[in-house]
Amino acid sequence: MGSVYEAAMEWLASPSSQTAMREGVAGGLEAAATTLVITAVLELVSLDTVKMIHQKQPGGPALYRQSIAVNFFNHFVLGIPVYSLAVLLFCRTTDEDDQQGGLLATVLRILGIIFIHDILYYEAHKTMHSGPGWYRFHKFHHRFRNFIPPSSANAVSIVEYLLAYVIPFAMAAFLIHPSEAEFRITVNIVSVANLLIHTPAYDPVSKYLEAVYLVSTRNHSDHHRKLTMNYAAPIFNLDRLLDELIGSDSGGDGGGSKATAAGVAS
Ligand SMILES: [Zn+2]
Ligand SMILES: [Zn+2]
Repeated sequence: MGSVYEAAMEWLASPSSQTAMREGVAGGLEAAATTLVITAVLELVSLDTVKMIHQKQPGGPALYRQSIAVNFFNHFVLGIPVYSLAVLLFCRTTDEDDQQGGLLATVLRILGIIFIHDILYYEAHKTMHSGPGWYRFHKFHHRFRNFIPPSSANAVSIVEYLLAYVIPFAMAAFLIHPSEAEFRITVNIVSVANLLIHTPAYDPVSKYLEAVYLVSTRNHSDHHRKLTMNYAAPIFNLDRLLDELIGSDSGGDGGGSKATAAGVAS
């Protein structure tokens, strides 16, 4: 046991681990801060929606204050540690970067992480709607039903943030083995996409994404209202892809979902 502990300590003290830890904390901080700044900008564009929550939704002002606090908690208390750990354990260190294989390899790795993240998000999301007892972890996000502002994108429970948002990134890093820079770029892309599908003003633009099997703001706001369809987010429209590839009951638009919103009424 002692030797395992000593080996772990020695590994942590090694120059490459020290570099990875520094890169992980700096990258995690940057990703969290970037997301919060973009959330604030998009929220300013969505002030009509914010106003409606305050004026028309029962308990709206309290819900809105809570969701802002949850945004900070999730990004800083949960997001940065998981991000740092993923970089330390699964990303290539700066020393290994000469093995990366050019721009095409970088683009493929980024697409790979996005795809793996979306698949894991999809499974976690669908489980939170259909698995007995799971909806309680997702209920808070669906309190934004008719008025959906950008800040609601990360207004999710601790369990949801870990299982559906950040652990899928760590698992994708484990499988793809990106550099920290590739990982950070991908986290930012997914994060911005998640904010945009919760931004009403983006709706007229995003509807064009539907033609190329990507998730639009309309797809996701339909999910917020109807609950038993359109589980895919934030980038690839996996409901539609699965429907068309294997004719599944994945619950996309017109997908004939068998999944139920178990526990929704609870
Ligand atoms: Zn949502
Ligand atoms: Zn949902």
